[in-house]
Amino acid sequence: MHDQLDSTTPAAKSLRDSRQPTVHPMLAELARCYPLMFQGPHTGLDMACGWYPVFAQLCADIDARLGQLQSDFHWRQLKEKYGQPRWYASLKDADGQASDVTGLVRPGSLLAPEQEREALRDCLRDLVQAAEACCETRCMACGSSASLQRLKGWYTTCCAGHLDMLQREPDAFWRLVQQNPL
Ligand SMILES: [Zn+2]
Repeated sequence: MHDQLDSTTPAAKSLRDSRQPTVHPMLAELARCYPLMFQGPHTGLDMACGWYPVFAQLCADIDARLGQLQSDFHWRQLKEKYGQPRWYASLKDADGQASDVTGLVRPGSLLAPEQEREALRDCLRDLVQAAEACCETRCMACGSSASLQRLKGWYTTCCAGHLDMLQREPDAFWRLVQQNPL
């Protein structure tokens, strides 16, 4: 990785630069199915259409695992960085305090006071990480088998056909990545 380069995609960059955290229209249907997951405070919820089916299944799996605790979980950031998904969520502790399921937190602080809550947090983290890992070999544009590519300082995960498109017609490629697959 080249830390001196800004390898966030142009689409993600425009989202980041906007004044208010945005929610991609692609996520509207999931927000209807699982409203509580999308109602908490967040810093932007973005999605690549090739990764959408994996994310939709992840939401279904999390919803099933949460059971009666649906109001305790929400997405706090969904983004792409260095061509890979970065999906961050919060789960309330037993005392109602929200803390991170995934992301920039030391493992010790992930532990909730109750054993059951701790097991739930571990399970949710495993689900999120497995889904992210699944997307690391899926094209951002079409979801087919892909690998991480670096092109002019930008990292993307895309198949051979969409790598060609990215080289020839980058604007069209990013429009495709951002389109609603539904
Ligand atoms: Zn593709």
